[in-house]
Amino acid sequence: MHFLQLFGIDMFGVKSGIPLPFGIINVKKKTPQRFDGGSLGLITPKEHKNMYGNAIGCTSKCPICKDKATIEKFYDVYYNADILSPSIKIHESFESLAQFLIGRQNILDNTFRKNYIVKRKFLADAVRGILNQDPTQGNLFGQ
Ligand SMILES: [Zn+2]
Repeated sequence: MHFLQLFGIDMFGVKSGIPLPFGIINVKKKTPQRFDGGSLGLITPKEHKNMYGNAIGCTSKCPICKDKATIEKFYDVYYNADILSPSIKIHESFESLAQFLIGRQNILDNTFRKNYIVKRKFLADAVRGILNQDPTQGNLFGQ
């Protein structure tokens, strides 16, 4: 969704989904993915460990992560309470807002490509893959 900031869109809504009644439907749990503001992508706990070790990795200091000292504590608390999915959505909302504000400031400072896109892996990959451009050079119109 942060790719859209390249086109001047700096607001979005996070789809929360409809909660399923507990116990009625046996939902297969899949590997959780949490939004990472540092790379602007969804990463698994294993990828998080590789990138940040056991640090919580929440730049927005959102209310979900605020009292969690480590990423293991985050997953322990919310996974075991069976509220991991909404917890990840709330974290994503706060983290995305923080990144949109940082991106906005970089756009105003004319450093969006140089200081923002290049340092965010998933956004830089999207610029390369979708726009077929070097994320460090030029603008959206190839100039
Ligand atoms: Zn957070």
